[in-house]
Amino acid sequence: MLLSLLCACQVAVASPAPLVVRVGDKVRSVPVVAHPEGGSALRADLLAEAIGGRLIDGGAGRWRLDLGGTGIALTLLAPFAVSGEEALPMPSSPFRSGGRVFVPYALATDILPRALGGLMFDPARVELRRMALVSRQPAAPRAIAEASARASRSAAEIVPSPRIPDVSPPARAPSRKRLVVVDAGHGGRDPGSLLRIGNTTVPEKTVALAVSLKLREALQARGVSVVMTRTRDTLIALGDRGPIANRSRGDLFVSVHVNAANPNWRNPGATRGFETYFLAEAKTEDEARVARMENEAVKFETSEETSRGDPLGFILRDMAQNEHLRESLTLAELVQQRMKGIHPGPSRGVKQAPFSVLVNSFMPSVLVEIGFGSNLPEARWMTSEAGQRQLAEAIADACVAYLAQYERKVGASEP
Ligand SMILES: [Zn+2]
Repeated sequence: MLLSLLCACQVAVASPAPLVVRVGDKVRSVPVVAHPEGGSALRADLLAEAIGGRLIDGGAGRWRLDLGGTGIALTLLAPFAVSGEEALPMPSSPFRSGGRVFVPYALATDILPRALGGLMFDPARVELRRMALVSRQPAAPRAIAEASARASRSAAEIVPSPRIPDVSPPARAPSRKRLVVVDAGHGGRDPGSLLRIGNTTVPEKTVALAVSLKLREALQARGVSVVMTRTRDTLIALGDRGPIANRSRGDLFVSVHVNAANPNWRNPGATRGFETYFLAEAKTEDEARVARMENEAVKFETSEETSRGDPLGFILRDMAQNEHLRESLTLAELVQQRMKGIHPGPSRGVKQAPFSVLVNSFMPSVLVEIGFGSNLPEARWMTSEAGQRQLAEAIADACVAYLAQYERKVGASEP
């Protein structure tokens, strides 16, 4: 907290070389300020104008940096930009200061050139250049149009208020490519639980990310699009993981975690197996334990990251009437079924608990505890390449089976 106060003062003090932006023969410079989380930042509206675009306020801490038909979506205090279907991690988050929105410097040097065509950063000259847009390949225009339509939808629409969960299934052609949001649990300064293998320990965040990246591959190989809430070792606030899923218009949301036995159990090292949760009130003490453990990540988030309040209570009441609850249960059952075929441990079944990470996601959502890191054989298996691959394939199969069921249902109800 002290650190961030200290750095906030530097916003006014520091004055590194401005970023030069060249569009054709027009040259503008965008002042660089210190970012309270470290590194540098740029005023978002000035950056947008300099590259010939504009910053559109979507309300509720969301903006879209629009560049004529294409663009990226930004969220206050969320360290990623959303481009089309992809969440692009940034080293720090957009923030507000003096009524203005600032974005990490890396947005200009790294994210924008990567996400949008026609932009290039020249580090030697500290210059961002915009070239004339040339369509890159024959198939690109439609993909770009779809991606930008998706992105502008996400910027224009505020994520539904927690009081009114979006229960209506999104209108879309049944043949549309399906999208799964994959959430690797924990990350950054939140390691999650620890997997113990002899004298070495591996943090849950590392295993969750490894399995999630393989899950992305497995899903893409099955023709399903994927958005990741994180692709590297960063902390995404629990409250932001659901909104990422919503903004990307996912069809379902899968959060990957590793379980840990309660050390007070008689033989904690012997506990093993896998379980899948959907969002509901915890029914047993053990379900409550896992929910407490996973929700604890909140303590690693800054007060700003968690200031959205705790809407869990009324969400749960609303969720009881929500069709996503039943859908999430179906998805959880499929995940358990598929994991039975490959997992060395027993199925601990489908469970329910109030996970913060699932609360803000208005689509069928599950949290998979892929095994016990406190059990040596399971810890070994989950950290092995082969084990991770098997887990990813099994979860991907479950997602595809679920989507196929959903497709049939939609097809049946819409003649
Ligand atoms: Zn976890």
